[in-house]
Amino acid sequence: MSGPIDLHAHTNVSDGTESPEQLVADALDAGLAVVAITDHDSTAGWSRAFAAAEGTGLTVLPGMELSTRLDGASVHLLGYLVDPDDPALLELTEGLRASRVDRAKRMVERIAADYPVDWEEVLAVAGEGATVGRPHIADALVARGHVPDRSTAFREILHFRGRYYVSHEAPSPLEGVRRIVDAGGVPVLAHPGGRAARGVLDGRRIRELVDAGLAGIEIDHRDNLVRTLPRLRMAAKRHGLLVTGSSDYHGAGKPNRLGEHTTDPEVYAAIVERGTGSRPFRG
Ligand code: AMP
Ligand code: FE
Ligand code: FE
Ligand code: ZN
Repeated sequence: MSGPIDLHAHTNVSDGTESPEQLVADALDAGLAVVAITDHDSTAGWSRAFAAAEGTGLTVLPGMELSTRLDGASVHLLGYLVDPDDPALLELTEGLRASRVDRAKRMVERIAADYPVDWEEVLAVAGEGATVGRPHIADALVARGHVPDRSTAFREILHFRGRYYVSHEAPSPLEGVRRIVDAGGVPVLAHPGGRAARGVLDGRRIRELVDAGLAGIEIDHRDNLVRTLPRLRMAAKRHGLLVTGSSDYHGAGKPNRLGEHTTDPEVYAAIVERGTGSRPFRG
């Protein structure tokens, strides 16, 4: 296997715009050797991505991006190679997805007072069974002509500091790491230096996650603020964490392009070695 390795991508099973089949096609177009499918709080796209990769030479690394919260900030955890049938992880993600629906409904109620939009329109753009998030509310607002695109919707209406924002229930990052490890998975902190994480992950917090089994940290990612990078690199070195790079591709939902950041083959091999809940699919 040789070629670029991109370990973070979404499909329309969560808030990406492309199907799992199309993600595989896009990964092949981008010349990737490995793509990870990491939908928010869901593993529902795995088998479709595997089937699409069959015979193409592309390897699909199964994963998910777990939503957690710390001090009111959003902290995302990538969990590679988890057992998709692990009861505790399933209970957690099912609860998360249900809470996301309640929360999105409440946000839509608030928004509709100023920008007419119906809950059914949000449900329709999200599609059956998808993990519902603010990007789907954004799509409904775009369809109504209130904003030109998702980015504008996030800036002007959906921002976490804005008046319409409601948070969903979420576990702590510590509980998230434990659930992923218990499910045989490999936990990696996703874009910890991004604005959404609001700097809540200080040295003590990272050490606590490492003690619980945190395996890696996503450093090469466009959301990580440049000023956070030296500290993140130091933490990775101190704790012997795997350092990953990835695009966080969302199809047309974000400007992020597959392969814009990549992960070293040695780091990928270490992740595969460590995960026991499922296996990569070599197509
Ligand atoms: P939620 O988890 O529902 O609070 O929504 C957060 C999700 O929205 C993240 O996973 C991002 O993928 C997406 N997101 C955040 N900011 C933007 C943006 N400016 N444009 C498009 N998508 C965004
Ligand atoms: Fe997303
Ligand atoms: Fe994320
Ligand atoms: Zn992501």
